[in-house]
Amino acid sequence: MTSFAGKILCIDLTTGVSETRSVPEAVYEAVLAGKGLAAWYLYAHIPPGADPLGPENILCFAAGALCGSGSFLTGRWTVACKSPLTGGWGDANCGGLFAPAIKQCGYDAIFISGVSEKPVYLFCDGRKVEVRDASPYWGLDATEAENALHRDLDPLCRKKPCVACIGQAGEKLSLISGICNEGGRIAARSGVGAVMGSKKLKAVVLAGTKPMGCADPEAVKALSRELGRKLLKMTMPSGLGVFLGVGGRMMGHLPYLPLDGSLTSLMFKEWGTQGNTSLAITSGDGPIKNWGGTPRDVRLMDMVYNPEHINRIEMAKYHCYSCPLGCGGKLNIRGRQYVTFDDTHKPEYETIQAFGALVLNKSRDSIYEINELLNRAGMDTISAGNTVAWAVECYEKGILTREQTDGLELTWGNTEAILTLVHKMIDREGFGDALADGVKRASERFGGAEYAMHVGGQEPGMHDARNDPQLGVHYVAEPAPGKHTVGMGIQYGAMSLCDICSWAPPAKLHPKKDDIEDTETMALISKANACYTMLTDGAGGCYYGQMMGVHMWKLVDYLNAAEGWSYDGDHYMEVGERIQTLRQLFNVKQGYDPAAVALPKRMAGDPPLSDGPLKGITLRNREQVSAHWKAFGWDERTGVPLPETVARLGIPELLSLEGS
Ligand code: SF4
Repeated sequence: MTSFAGKILCIDLTTGVSETRSVPEAVYEAVLAGKGLAAWYLYAHIPPGADPLGPENILCFAAGALCGSGSFLTGRWTVACKSPLTGGWGDANCGGLFAPAIKQCGYDAIFISGVSEKPVYLFCDGRKVEVRDASPYWGLDATEAENALHRDLDPLCRKKPCVACIGQAGEKLSLISGICNEGGRIAARSGVGAVMGSKKLKAVVLAGTKPMGCADPEAVKALSRELGRKLLKMTMPSGLGVFLGVGGRMMGHLPYLPLDGSLTSLMFKEWGTQGNTSLAITSGDGPIKNWGGTPRDVRLMDMVYNPEHINRIEMAKYHCYSCPLGCGGKLNIRGRQYVTFDDTHKPEYETIQAFGALVLNKSRDSIYEINELLNRAGMDTISAGNTVAWAVECYEKGILTREQTDGLELTWGNTEAILTLVHKMIDREGFGDALADGVKRASERFGGAEYAMHVGGQEPGMHDARNDPQLGVHYVAEPAPGKHTVGMGIQYGAMSLCDICSWAPPAKLHPKKDDIEDTETMALISKANACYTMLTDGAGGCYYGQMMGVHMWKLVDYLNAAEGWSYDGDHYMEVGERIQTLRQLFNVKQGYDPAAVALPKRMAGDPPLSDGPLKGITLRNREQVSAHWKAFGWDERTGVPLPETVARLGIPELLSLEGS
């Protein structure tokens, strides 16, 4: 037995026909499951030029290879499709309990094509697959819909079902909408919610009870025990949060980015990702004032986001499936200013930054409300925050008038106006309608393109490439551009990939200014980052497991134990390389031009800032992206995988394998 279910479910919503297919073992060996299985299937089955919001697009929900094996930090699920936001490969990733629910229905992945005439939801319990009427749930926000589905279905199921659904944003085809589960988790990126909405698919409800397992459960358990012991030993002295801003300031003056895997784990365990906020603001990592902030703006913002403030109102910690770290939490927000909900998931760093320092908003309470509003509507907080920041800057610069903003005084830090605009975006009302499709489309309509921060159509995560040039390479070269979860220089320093991969350069403190690292070394580092992240996604692993480093979260050992394999790190890094190359081939097939993607000039340091931790930095991003492509064996000018690389990775043979 391995940890793979060995089967996929394919459903056509136009005809209502579903079928279960077996996947050849060679596919799992080549690309694992999760994002790898999605890339294998979607490359072959989405025709070139398919309308992302039409019946030919296929929406994939996939669990990772290790989900259910007993391994730790491997309960993430991937959703993938052709992105309506970028026109190329799209994917997003989320946690909670939905990944094991896919496996417990007997599948590694579910592929949904076609378009239904009326709102439907998909129900599967491992014995039957049904497309059911969703009209009672259409129009509800994601949390309301999930609760209503539980109310109606729990009494009829052998186990409490897991629900992934869209909110109003996905229903209204917002191109920055995502897919939600467990009352506030969201697979937010690439416009995946709009694809689900275009299919009139409100929810996927899974209630299977099939067993999960792996080849050597004892070996997997031993690895998990070892990791658990290390994590238990780590504790954070209380009150430390107040010093993070000072620590960030010191980091801002260093020429190198220090990061230690255990320190990161400790921060996530104690505070969740929000623990990063004041450190990021002061060090130069976190963007301020639409990516153009000055040291004065930093002084305004850093103490507002001391993570201890948020921990004080945490009611309970939240863990994804198989995670001992538990970076999530539920907050009691009842009675706070601007707040209309009783509780909310703890906002992630990305959300706090996007609706805090990026728009100079000093009200933490408003961020709790915005977090809950957007998570319920199923709208990506990163994209929404970047879009609102653009609107504020355009208003301040006179590009947008008060008439155009429906009378909103969109000035920096105007909490009420920002909150109202978020409501308008969710409802697609007036000015908000134009912003609900992200910053690129909004700037094409109103002007202000130089202030529209997007990469290939997708708004970047809340980490500044001028602080970490590796990140700038991934923002541009990643087949789903603008994502911050593919690799960073700071992360490479913590992971020690050189200890599992013969060609990965040694880990060291990572230089901030890219002129002190040679381009070829940097390209090998960015390649190693991307390959390891694809491997992690194929396994269903968590990005924060990666950051612990390979000696703490032993992904290679986990895979060998779970699948009965005995491969080395080089083999697995090639699996990651294959997944990444397949995703890029998907882009090429769809007519997406990798060479046309670039960093916004402001983020590239053109012109450079005159003050602060990012002072004087201009990136050599185009040259570095070319070197990254070359390291992958892709054409260094066009980003198209070279025929010899495609052959070396065995991709033609892989694509000739059919599910049966
Ligand atoms: S570290 Fe956080 S995001 Fe990752 S698996 Fe654990 S709870 Fe989920």
